[in-house]
Amino acid sequence: MFNKSVKIDIPCPECGYKTKLSLREIESNPTYKCLGCNKDINLNASEFKKSLKDAEDQLKRLFK
Ligand SMILES: [Zn+2]
Repeated sequence: MFNKSVKIDIPCPECGYKTKLSLREIESNPTYKCLGCNKDINLNASEFKKSLKDAEDQLKRLFK
């Protein structure tokens, strides 16, 4: 299992702006404000499932 405190780029589903969040932060608070479009993003939304998969792939590359 990877380190959940590592920050990863989460692309905004609205504007694509990347926000650095750790998986631990996402798990404790899945809503954040995007600085690109100023919208509140809820990472529990279904679109995030793909993003999370991408994030896991990022982490796996980091820890290879
Ligand atoms: Zn945005």
